[in-house]
Amino acid sequence: MVEIDGRTRLLGLIGNPVRGSLSPKLHNYVIKKLGIHYRYLAFPVEREDLCAAIDGAGALGARGLNVTVPYKVDVLASMDRLSESARNVAAVNTIVFEDGGDLFGDNTDWRGFLKSLEVNGFDPEGRRCLVFGAGGAARGVVYGLMKAGAGKVLVANRTPSAARGLVEDLEKVDGGTELESTGLDGLPSATTLKGYDLFVNATPLGSGELQGKAVWEPDFECSGDQLFYDLIYDPDPTKFLRSAEHRGAKTLGGLDMLILQGLKSLKIWTKQEFDEKSTLNRLRGVLET
Ligand code: NAP
Repeated sequence: MVEIDGRTRLLGLIGNPVRGSLSPKLHNYVIKKLGIHYRYLAFPVEREDLCAAIDGAGALGARGLNVTVPYKVDVLASMDRLSESARNVAAVNTIVFEDGGDLFGDNTDWRGFLKSLEVNGFDPEGRRCLVFGAGGAARGVVYGLMKAGAGKVLVANRTPSAARGLVEDLEKVDGGTELESTGLDGLPSATTLKGYDLFVNATPLGSGELQGKAVWEPDFECSGDQLFYDLIYDPDPTKFLRSAEHRGAKTLGGLDMLILQGLKSLKIWTKQEFDEKSTLNRLRGVLET
């Protein structure tokens, strides 16, 4: 790794908690491979210190910050400029400290999600998709699916009004994707769901204290063309994925998305070009151990 010297610039993650985050390992691995003058650290930040933490990082000449739970929405107001996607998804996961001193807020979650579909051989164009959850991650997923030309996205959430709100917000984005919302108890019949191609869990059900639970499980035989995707990467597989695999579907955990959104952020900050697919392959091994 290039030694820390007077040229080294800071990159980092703010959130709470951040202790278990894989991002420092991920970013510092690529920084080392590229031989560039950066280091990436994780900073646990209390809500009342959020603005001070961002201003302080800028004052210290940091190049950028990732933002994670629970601040992706809170930091929107502190940005001088937002990318179109950050505005539409209404969440920032990547802050760039620009040379003129402005703060630019971007969102790479949805790009990481789309890229993970691509590298795993799933093209959403024209496909029918069911997304569980209506929080920040679900917004990114639905936005990404719209950008990729999905035929239909049904958003199912415990609180139906949140799913409705998500759909109403994203309907304002140009695109030909049909959007619909429902509560978890208003899902279409098994016969209808058999016709869906992609099922995404964008809720925390299956991880942490909710480990061993699933937001929903298919009660029909699936085909090998149907993909069940869980944004959770620990554990992998989750109950959601295990039951789908048992029914014959293809499955994908959240590690690829995590890695690919991180690589997108790193490219934005460092303006370095590197091959995402081969870097992903190497990082899978590094982060899974
Ligand atoms: P969030 O904004 O807090 O949203 C959570 C969503 O899950 C809400 O729609 C909530 O429904 C629903 N939910 C929570 N507890 C539930 C329960 N017990 N039963 C049913 N629904 C429940 O969280 P987020 O940022 O969207 O993150 C969601 C998940 O995605 C997390 O597990 C996170 O780690 C993961 N994630 C992964 C990546 C990746 O790169 N792999 C990136 C981002 C997020 P209500 O509206 O009813 O509260």
